[in-house]
Amino acid sequence: MSNHRFTVFLFLFCSIFSQNVKSEDIRFSDYFQNKTMRVDYFHTGNNVTEVFAIDRIVNDGDWAGSLTQLQDKMNLGLYFFEVIDKGKNQVIYSRGFASIFGEWQLTPEASEYGSFHESIRFPWPLEPFTLVISKRGSDNFFHKIWEKEIDPNSRFVNRAEPELPFKSWTVIENGDPHYKVDIVVLGDGYRYDQMEKFRADVNRLVSELFAVEPFQSRKSDFNVRAVFTPCQQAGINKPHPGVYARTPLSLTYGAFDSERYVLGFDNRSIREVASLVPYEFMIILVNERTYGGGGIYNLYSTVSADNKFADYIMVHEFGHQFAALTDEYYSSSVSYEGPSIEIEPWEPNITALKDPNNLKWKHLVDPSTPIPTPWNKETFDKFSYQIQIERHEIRARNEPEEVMEALFERERKFETQLINNMEYIGKVGAFEGAGYNQYGMYRPETDCIMFTRNRQAFCKVCQEAISKIINLYVQ
Ligand SMILES: [Zn+2]
Repeated sequence: MSNHRFTVFLFLFCSIFSQNVKSEDIRFSDYFQNKTMRVDYFHTGNNVTEVFAIDRIVNDGDWAGSLTQLQDKMNLGLYFFEVIDKGKNQVIYSRGFASIFGEWQLTPEASEYGSFHESIRFPWPLEPFTLVISKRGSDNFFHKIWEKEIDPNSRFVNRAEPELPFKSWTVIENGDPHYKVDIVVLGDGYRYDQMEKFRADVNRLVSELFAVEPFQSRKSDFNVRAVFTPCQQAGINKPHPGVYARTPLSLTYGAFDSERYVLGFDNRSIREVASLVPYEFMIILVNERTYGGGGIYNLYSTVSADNKFADYIMVHEFGHQFAALTDEYYSSSVSYEGPSIEIEPWEPNITALKDPNNLKWKHLVDPSTPIPTPWNKETFDKFSYQIQIERHEIRARNEPEEVMEALFERERKFETQLINNMEYIGKVGAFEGAGYNQYGMYRPETDCIMFTRNRQAFCKVCQEAISKIINLYVQ
């Protein structure tokens, strides 16, 4: 038994930190300059294969991250990168992340090849290093899929300072970026004469983020800056209703052919603009009322700034980007059987409950709460199913946005009332229905910003996950 445990431990160790590479605490100034290196590359493949090809390596401005928390032990994300000093054969920086490619690979579009531009950012190494990218396998461990040797002093590395003619400003300033979480807010689809609107949208939505725990009580741990990239016409690309636009950041609705999924595929332009200020996390507001947004761990989150539910979208999508929280919601169907879930998901806020006695958020559960935890699921599912049908019909008829907003308002009213009357409201347990699965997957509380659009908080498990990430950037 103990032998088996040892093997598992060894495997985990070797998988997360590349084989035979030392992983000790290191002194920043021994290995790095106070600048950010950005490696831009193309991530190309289909549903069975993927390859990487360097685009270019550039200076991305001053280093805003921690000087001490250089190695990421959080075990989050579909991908993981490591910077390994060649001379000392030591991991000197690492981070988990997710990517558009990683999501796209699971869509029907990936039956054909696709190519996505991505960036990895880390403090500027003084000496030659190996960049390693690993991917989480079906065993839940990371396995190396690419490596590239880079000499920071070679002519293939462009050390010129970033320079672009866009206006940037500080929204919240609490101190030295090395000891703060730094957020950059970009905007797309704002006209030249709409800078004040963008400024007001930024202030309003950033306030919404800091009205929610744990961001509220830890606001002094954050800096927020904004960059304005105007265009000729208001709005972004919306292919589903046939509204086409070409904007500076190329944000678009309809990512992976989902009408409300807003992403930007022109990563190079987005990163160039963001590099004008120090940042670790990025929010992109789109000057639109049509409901939409997106959020990918350690990439960015997007929000339709004028939607009636923009406050919710802002906070929910930031949860994806910031702490790798997954959706706790699911689509209800009339069928009573779901696919069986084989592997415990790595995301912090859902569980397949394979071992109810060792629930991953067990430390937050009151012993008197039953696992799994009963809730009024049948009523909820029946109602949600009707709402989905209506939602689909509203979009199919191309109705004005206020019709959709009214539907969401009705949904919110019903769900709030239903959830507020449940026996285990406010308790941490394991409530069936989570992570797009109606059955066999469980969420921590009756309600959470990752579950419904109700006016409520992050559940305690999500709050804890967010706090851990804040800690990674403030010391
Ligand atoms: Zn939650």
